[in-house]
Amino acid sequence: MELTGRSIIGFSRGAASKEMLFGLNPATGEQLKPGYHFASTDEVDQAAQLAANAFASYSQTSGQQRARFLRQIAENIEALGDTLISRATTETGLPEGRIKSETGRTCSQLRLFADVVAEGSWVDARIDHADTNRTPLPKPDVRSMLRPLGPVVVFGASNFPLAFSVAGGDTASAFAAGNPVIVKAHHAHPGTSELVGLAVSDAVRAFELHEGVFSLIYGSGSEVGTALVKHPLIKAGGFTGSRAGGRALFDAASSRLEPIPFYAEMSSVNPVVILPEALRTRAEQLATGLQGSVTLGAGQFCTNPGLVFLRAGAEADAFVSRFGELLSGTSEQTMLTPGIRSSYQKGVASRFDQTGVATVMQKSAAADCAASPALFKVDAAGFIANKSLSEEIFGPTTLMVTYENDEELLKIVRSLEGQLTATIHGTDEELSNNRDLINLLETKAGRLLFNGFPTGVEVCHSMVHGGPYPATSDGRSTSVGTRAIFRFTRQVCFQSFPNAALPDELKEENPLGIWRLVDGALSK
Ligand code: NAP
Repeated sequence: MELTGRSIIGFSRGAASKEMLFGLNPATGEQLKPGYHFASTDEVDQAAQLAANAFASYSQTSGQQRARFLRQIAENIEALGDTLISRATTETGLPEGRIKSETGRTCSQLRLFADVVAEGSWVDARIDHADTNRTPLPKPDVRSMLRPLGPVVVFGASNFPLAFSVAGGDTASAFAAGNPVIVKAHHAHPGTSELVGLAVSDAVRAFELHEGVFSLIYGSGSEVGTALVKHPLIKAGGFTGSRAGGRALFDAASSRLEPIPFYAEMSSVNPVVILPEALRTRAEQLATGLQGSVTLGAGQFCTNPGLVFLRAGAEADAFVSRFGELLSGTSEQTMLTPGIRSSYQKGVASRFDQTGVATVMQKSAAADCAASPALFKVDAAGFIANKSLSEEIFGPTTLMVTYENDEELLKIVRSLEGQLTATIHGTDEELSNNRDLINLLETKAGRLLFNGFPTGVEVCHSMVHGGPYPATSDGRSTSVGTRAIFRFTRQVCFQSFPNAALPDELKEENPLGIWRLVDGALSK
C-alpha cells in the first residue's frame, strides 16, 4: 500500500501544503518518506463540518450496526499484516513482538466495544412509569438513557502507536457511543497513522456510513490540534501524552464559548509501597519484578513505577543495592523520539544535584536515541521538601524513598498528586493492618494493586485507567476498558413520549431485550 502523506478528510485527501513533517527511524536517525503535509485551517474546518453532518445519521445507527463497523475496522487492521508491523517498528523503534501484541490488543479492544454495543445494556436505560392517581400531583412517565455527544477529536499517543492512536481506545469508545471521530495524528508515527486511518476509512465506505464519520489530520498540536479542540462543531476530546500538552488542550476546551469535556491522560509516577514483611521475605523476587516493570518498553509507559517507598534499614539498603545491580545489567533501549529521549536525559540529570538525592546507578546510553536506566534514593524528609521529585520522568528510572515509620509513610503518600496507579506489596496481615494507608491511596489513584506491578493494563469491563489530576483531567473517567465509552455520552430524558416515538432502548416492550432499571428494579 502506497503512503500519500496527506490528511484523510472524509473520503477526500488533504492538499499538498508546503509545511510537512517526516517520520523518523529513532534507531538509525533516518528520515522516512513520504513527508506528511500539514492540514490547513480550511481542511480542519472541512473535517469538523463533515463530522457534524455525519453525526445526524451515525448517532442513530443501532448498536448492531456500530458493532459490525467496529469489527470491520479490526479486520481491516489485521489485513494490513506485515506492512503495518514493518512501518510501525521502523517509526517507533519498538520491537516487532511489542507491535504485534499491540495490534492484537487494538483489534480485541475494537471487538470488545463491538460486543458491548451489540448487547446494548450499556446505555443505562431507566424507566419510571406514570402514576396518574398519585396525589397531590400525578407522576409523569419519565425515561432516560445515554446518547452520543457529537464529533470527538482524538490525539494519538506516541507511546501506544496502535492501541492509543488512530483506532485505539479513545476512537473505539467514541465510535461505539455513536460519535464521529477526527484524529490528530501523532508526529512520531505518521505512516502507521495513515495505514490505520485508511483501514478505518475503508470500513466507513464498506458500511456506507457518512464520510464525515472519520477524518485523520496531520499538523502541529499547537496549531491544528488547538484549532480542532476550539472548533465550535467539536463536542469532546480524548488525549494521552504530556501534562503540558494535555493541560494546554484542556484549557483550550474549557475556555471555549461553549466549553466541552476534554479527557486528558497525562502524568503519573505510580508509587509502589513495599511493606517490611514483603521486603524481608521476597526481596529478590520484588527486585526482579520491579526491574521488569521499570525498564519495560524503555520505561515509556504511563503506569511505569517512578517511586518506591521502603522502610529504612539494612533490608532496604540491601534491596536498593540489589535492584541497582539488576538495572545495571539491563541493556539500553531505543526511545520513541529524540524529543522524548532528550526529556528523559534532562529529567535524569536534574536529579544529580538535588539536595539529599543519592545516585545509586546511572549509565549513559551509547546510541543517539537510546535510554539506559537510572536509580536514585532519598529519605522521606528530602522527598517531601522537594516537589520536583514527585514529577514524572518518562523513561527507565525510579526513585527509592525510605521512611522511618508508618506515620512518615502516610506523610509521604499524603504529599503525592493524583496517580493512575498505586501498588502495595505486603502480606495479607500487613494489608489488614494498614487500612489508613489503603484509604489514603484510594484518594490518590484510579487503580490500587496488591503484590503486582502497575505496567500491563488489562482491557476489560472493570479496568480503571484514570485517576485524580494530574493523572487525568477528569478523575471520574477511565480511558481503558469498556467504561471509557461513558466519556463520550450524555444523559437524555424523554418525558411523556408516546411509545412509538421513543428510542428502541426505552420502548415499553423492550424490543432489544436489554437490561433496564424499571421503576427502580433491574429487569430484561
Ligand atoms: P505530547 O508532547 O503531550 O504530545 C501529544 C500530542 O499533543 C501531540 O499530538 C502534540 O502535538 C500535542 N501537543 C503537545 N503540546 C501541545 C500544546 N501545547 N498545544 C496543543 N497540542 C499539543 O506527548 P509526547 O509527544 O507523546 O511525549 C512528550 C512527553 O510526554 C514525554 O516525554 C512524556 O513526558 C510525556 N508522555 C506521557 C505519557 C503518559 O501516559 N503519562 C505518554 C506519552 C508521553 P505535536 O505533534 O505538535 O507534538
